[in-house]
Amino acid sequence: MLNRVVLNKFAIGVSIVLSAGLALAVFAADAAKPKKEGFTDTPMEPDGKWHVHDSERPNPPIVTPGTCSTQDKVGTAPSDAIVLFDGKDLSHWQSTVKGQAVAPKWKVEDGCMVAEKGAGSVFSKEPFGDMQLHIEWSAPTPAAGNGQGRGNSGVIIMGKYEVQVLDSYDNVTYADGQAGAVYGQYPPLVNACRKPGEWQSYDIIFEAPKFDADKKLVKPAYVTVLHNGVLLHNHRQIIGAMAYKKLATYSFHEPELPLMLQFHGNPVRYRNIWVRKLDKAE
Ligand code: MG
Repeated sequence: MLNRVVLNKFAIGVSIVLSAGLALAVFAADAAKPKKEGFTDTPMEPDGKWHVHDSERPNPPIVTPGTCSTQDKVGTAPSDAIVLFDGKDLSHWQSTVKGQAVAPKWKVEDGCMVAEKGAGSVFSKEPFGDMQLHIEWSAPTPAAGNGQGRGNSGVIIMGKYEVQVLDSYDNVTYADGQAGAVYGQYPPLVNACRKPGEWQSYDIIFEAPKFDADKKLVKPAYVTVLHNGVLLHNHRQIIGAMAYKKLATYSFHEPELPLMLQFHGNPVRYRNIWVRKLDKAE
């Protein structure tokens, strides 16, 4: 009998201690939770969705940045990017023959994809609309040919809007056809070309054109381009799809289309290609 009373008291004592411990733990966890900083009694922003410094406004997602390339070392993509070429294979690419998708004939060597003679252009398997694109290229060395015939290729967004790739180091051509030009429309603000054989980067922010239900253009495309970190185009309004010796015009197309790398007769090399699809921020 005595033992049972002692045991009962002991059990009650343990449960009190445990309950107190649990309460303390909950209190500690609450105290550890960062308090939401901000306000909900401040004026509304013009879009009417959030207060100034709104504590309920969602914080943006965390992205681990990639590393920048150097001449000797290839960089890496940010954590939320779609890597289209990491030096290994062409699994994200295809070519087309008479409208049919076929395996691309570009060569992969030394961690680069190379525009092969007679291989045609390549297209990403995945289509893209609004996007951030990083791509690195290197013009053939020793330099051969002149003007448009030297190190010609192209980053043709949606297969329609070309940011020109050309060896424009000590090589003059028409201004709207040199490296970094929106081909046939706008010369780059500056010529930031490196020597042939050296690695160069394009960082491109692209806003796809929008068409209404009647397939009429309601918003043109816009592009921002940095070449080797130097600004070439700042939110430039694109006139239309790339054209040669003609004024560019728009014609209806899907909101997302494959990215094209142009084959233009020269063995231009590419590496470290990645895309981030862009959604509207809150
Ligand atoms: Mg070209």
